[in-house]
Amino acid sequence: MLPLSSLADYHVHTPLCRHAVGEPMEYVRVAQARGLREIGFSDHCPMDGPEPFDDWRMLRSELPRYVEMILDARSQAAPFPVRLGLECDFIAGREGWIEQLAGLAPWDYLIGSVHYLAPGWDVDNPKHLSRFESSPGAVEEIWERYWREFDRCARSGLFDILAHPDLVKKFGHRPSGDLRRFYEPAIEAIVEGGSAIEISTAGLRKPVGELYPAADFLALAGAAGIPMVISSDAHAPEEVGVDFEVASEAAVSAGYRETVKMQEVKRRSPRGLI
Ligand code: ZN
Ligand code: FE
Ligand code: FE
Ligand code: ZN
Repeated sequence: MLPLSSLADYHVHTPLCRHAVGEPMEYVRVAQARGLREIGFSDHCPMDGPEPFDDWRMLRSELPRYVEMILDARSQAAPFPVRLGLECDFIAGREGWIEQLAGLAPWDYLIGSVHYLAPGWDVDNPKHLSRFESSPGAVEEIWERYWREFDRCARSGLFDILAHPDLVKKFGHRPSGDLRRFYEPAIEAIVEGGSAIEISTAGLRKPVGELYPAADFLALAGAAGIPMVISSDAHAPEEVGVDFEVASEAAVSAGYRETVKMQEVKRRSPRGLI
């Protein structure tokens, strides 16, 4: 196992996204109580264009408030490190918005997520569950679509960390056969784009009941030398660092000996990592 004192939780939300609870300092205190080495906030990014884009993110006008909240928590928690990040929705064709966001605050890191498979279709939203059963080939088609977007997101090089790599399995829908046909191209794309991936314990709390990503994916990532972090995707303070022992065992089984750290000064190095 990787010692908890060597781990950070970089995927943590705030109430500004309208579906998380608890003040940033409450999240910080749980990270400290669990013996983590640092915490980083990464709430859902605002989007460009007409608002609201959907009902689960901050508005553009709220971004300064978000940054201020996290920088406040940073001063209160010092010397415990509090990093400033953002979970950005990757949508092919809208990369310019991510580039703009990148310049709007002194981010320690940006997380890239694929939630949207088409306008108005966030694949992890239970309101679209029926799509998985809409035809005999639906699951295979949705997986193809998800991984096509994921590979673009990875290859974009816009992000320091790629979130919940196989999020498409959230509700337990998986095509039959060897799923490495989806994972292998994704691994290549990640290596090309130079991001780290997260092992997310959030999947354990979802219908699928397992870590993101699957063990086969993680083994390929470990073998390819892709840097890794362990994250909770906490939407409540008590979720910070939760099940990190489980994730850490999976990491070690995949050949990992350590996680990577995110810090603003080094973010702009060629691979975006330290
Ligand atoms: Zn969320
Ligand atoms: Fe997400
Ligand atoms: Fe998240
Ligand atoms: Zn997330």
